[in-house]
Amino acid sequence: MSYVFGPIASRRLGRSLGVDPIVHKACNWNCVYCQLGRTTSLRHERQDFVPPDDVVAEVRQALTEHAPGSIEWITFGGSGEPTLHASLGRMLRGVKAATEIPVAVLTNGALLYRPEVQAELMVADAVLPSLDAGSEELFQRINRPWPELTFGRLIDGLVAFRRVFGGKLWVEVMLIKGVNDAEPELRDIAAVLERIRPHEVHINRPVRPPTEGWVQPPDEEALATSDRPSPRSHAMGAFAASRAWDASSGAASKRSTASPRHRSAGLVHPLS
Ligand code: SF4
Repeated sequence: MSYVFGPIASRRLGRSLGVDPIVHKACNWNCVYCQLGRTTSLRHERQDFVPPDDVVAEVRQALTEHAPGSIEWITFGGSGEPTLHASLGRMLRGVKAATEIPVAVLTNGALLYRPEVQAELMVADAVLPSLDAGSEELFQRINRPWPELTFGRLIDGLVAFRRVFGGKLWVEVMLIKGVNDAEPELRDIAAVLERIRPHEVHINRPVRPPTEGWVQPPDEEALATSDRPSPRSHAMGAFAASRAWDASSGAASKRSTASPRHRSAGLVHPLS
């Protein structure tokens, strides 16, 4: 198969059938932690990188080859940014028409400010965007986006999408040692998360070879501290409170998602 892989074991999504509708490293960001290497040519125009009907046909075929119950999620992600595919909505609708298995989309979230992208994603059961920074300066340093895709646009898009989306919005935060893992940066991220109000926040760290050699995972101690409110660190506590946030009940759950896994959309096999 060309566009479908797995199912593979995903810590967040269980047994996931992966769908990769993007050519290698077609992306509007150039994250320092991306394990696919540098984005040599940033893109922001959406296009049909691969035939959408062929993608849906492969998913249908894969579903016939696996026993009922052996796939828990069908997950669009892969080797670039899936929302750059101009027919993402067509593919999602095609897959949803073929099965009752829930469908997730791993995305950097950069295009969520666009109404047409929001509309296309509406059929998904879960959307998992990234948020690695709480300020424009840090966003530019970590994610190195297409120039027009500013931090303000990213946050506006996440907030707007959260308001209209009927599925689950699970935000992933990649913590990088010495970059966004200290109290001031965590405080900024927590403040942004308060605005977005995702259903859950998943903390992650880069452990697979990153694009930039200086990228390191945070110390275990820092991760452990960020996992619980601490009288010594209000920002850490605020971040912990928002990291596994069940917005429907208003209660913070203790579901921890810290794992040695790389950023979702940046993986060829992104679902572990
Ligand atoms: S990690 Fe994802 S969003 Fe970042 S550069 Fe790689 S493919 Fe693009």
